[in-house]
Amino acid sequence: NPHKTFEYRVMPYGDEHLLLIARDITRVSQLEAMRKDFVANVSHELRTPLTVINGYLEILPVDETADPFMQKAMKEMTAQTHRMQNLIEDLLVLSRIEASSERIYENVVNIPTVLSQIEREAQALNKEKQHHIEFHIDADLKVFGVETELRSACSNLVFNAVHYTPPGGEIHVYWRHDEEGAKFAVHDNGDGIESNHLNRLTERFYRVDKARSRKTGGSGLGLSIVKHVLSHHNSRLDIASTLGEGSQFSFVLDKELIAEQI
Ligand code: ADP
Repeated sequence: NPHKTFEYRVMPYGDEHLLLIARDITRVSQLEAMRKDFVANVSHELRTPLTVINGYLEILPVDETADPFMQKAMKEMTAQTHRMQNLIEDLLVLSRIEASSERIYENVVNIPTVLSQIEREAQALNKEKQHHIEFHIDADLKVFGVETELRSACSNLVFNAVHYTPPGGEIHVYWRHDEEGAKFAVHDNGDGIESNHLNRLTERFYRVDKARSRKTGGSGLGLSIVKHVLSHHNSRLDIASTLGEGSQFSFVLDKELIAEQI
């Protein structure tokens, strides 16, 4: 039936037979498609009013001479508007990646270019924290993939390391190619994460410490974006972490995706 979607499982049945189980998941996939559409539309619709609010906030004549309460209110409204804008941008990025049909073998991504931009942004973000951030990247690394997606996966992981490491930390970022594939890793000596949280971290809006994460201004969608990007590139996120010692976030892109060897 062309209008139905099935999920199949094959299991051994006795010594000589296999059992094929087909589950009708038509309804579930329809609901999932509706959810994706809904989130994408709502996010898109919220963008315009927020831009208008933000535009007025920027031109309101509230400076150091204004009433202290007005100054406080302006500061808070501006901060919350920006938080909402970040959240909506991340929801849109996530929707776009979920719906992405861009083929990964059609474009070559120059990794050093992408990572040097992320390095500049990380250094800008690092002003307050004064971490030692070091990128270890060989020249001439090229992979097949979707540039915007890989950029957003890598930058989310690097910025998280900056956010969740106490001031004066050590952050190392690696990208190298070997016989297994293209390997990316971010190591930090920050807060670390308790093991019972690890397998839920890539869920939408999942945070270990809600109040704290909110203060960093994150949307709670970063690792979910990373997960979707990697699944689109046939890879997955590996997380190793020890509470109080630091974390390592890494992924390997299959060697088929390394472009310079072809
Ligand atoms: P957020 O916007 O909250 O940063 P993410 O999806 O990027 O959302 O991350 C989810 C949660 O994972 C964070 O709230 C934080 O608790 C934890 N986390 C992510 N990266 C790190 C890290 N490098 N060190 C410690 N905790 C981290």
